[in-house]
Amino acid sequence: MKILPRQTRIPVGISQCAMGDPVRYNGGHKHSKVCTQLLARCFEYVPLCPEVAIGMGVPRKPIHLLVAKAGADVDAVRVVGVEDQTVDVTDPLREYADSVVPDLEKIRGYIFMQNSPSCGLHGVRRYLDNGHGIDSEGVGIFARRIQQHFPHLPMEEVGRLNNSELRENFLTRVFAYDAWFRYVECEPEQEEIPEAQQNEGAGEEPVKRLSRIARIIEFYTAYKYLLMAHNQDATRALGRLLADSKAMPEDDLAFAVRGRIMEILSHPASRKDRTNALMHSQGHLKEYLNKDETAELQQLIEDYRLGHKPLSAVLTMLRHYLPRSPHGFIHSQVLLAAEPAELGLCDFH
Ligand code: SF4
Repeated sequence: MKILPRQTRIPVGISQCAMGDPVRYNGGHKHSKVCTQLLARCFEYVPLCPEVAIGMGVPRKPIHLLVAKAGADVDAVRVVGVEDQTVDVTDPLREYADSVVPDLEKIRGYIFMQNSPSCGLHGVRRYLDNGHGIDSEGVGIFARRIQQHFPHLPMEEVGRLNNSELRENFLTRVFAYDAWFRYVECEPEQEEIPEAQQNEGAGEEPVKRLSRIARIIEFYTAYKYLLMAHNQDATRALGRLLADSKAMPEDDLAFAVRGRIMEILSHPASRKDRTNALMHSQGHLKEYLNKDETAELQQLIEDYRLGHKPLSAVLTMLRHYLPRSPHGFIHSQVLLAAEPAELGLCDFH
């Protein structure tokens, strides 16, 4: 089995102010060129501004997160006016999030604006009712509700996507989440496929003849070395769960496996673990290489481990030898595709 690249852009939710739309409380925006110029090459955005959507208007009075004490539970917050605490938009923002869930079923990632009481994903400042900032452990009320509805959906903040490694990690998770729905759940791509490309995905058809359990196992198998590059122990544990899969109802298994895959991929891939996964890949090709070729490939992987050679050099050589192996396992490995970097969306790490 080989997970084919998507032919159309991936639907991804985004805070509307990041698109350059003047929807902020002060009538401004927070345009992100990384989002609208770089990532828009592979993402089809679904922009939402929850504060405008609930009728707060532009410009509007600022709001913030209110808590009773420092360290309060993430859900024990209200969203109130900074100047007038009787303005409480907690419930409207939660209800708005609930109302957009059907439209968001198709998205495969979400990019939120940082530091917002509605959209922030991490570290949003929280306040006591006397107006004093007490901690920075808040999550925007809209973002939090979306997290609860879509617990495995890849999410990231706009500002963090300026960092190439964080961007690569987000893209890797979005590609995996999208591939899961296309491959395991056999969901068609949402955007219309241009006529000229319509035959490119024809190879995925036989997948539908497999049972869902078989597709889950094949998905894990194709992702195995990429997962190992992110967390070896958790990948082995997932393998054990799948080996025992007969004990679980199919839907529970699918939910658990998807959750674990997304959790593993959320760990940054270290050079050490990636080296290990590359060595495993090389092991599958060893019997088809002569002594000099093996030595050259091993040296290249070692140079990568030491930071002297880029990942792209190792991948190029592995792919060069790949056609010599008749084994589907190594041909299927998503690790060797390194899609986000190959598409020029981040650097090779
Ligand atoms: S952070 Fe969210 S609520 Fe605030 S302006 Fe941007 S999209 Fe609207």
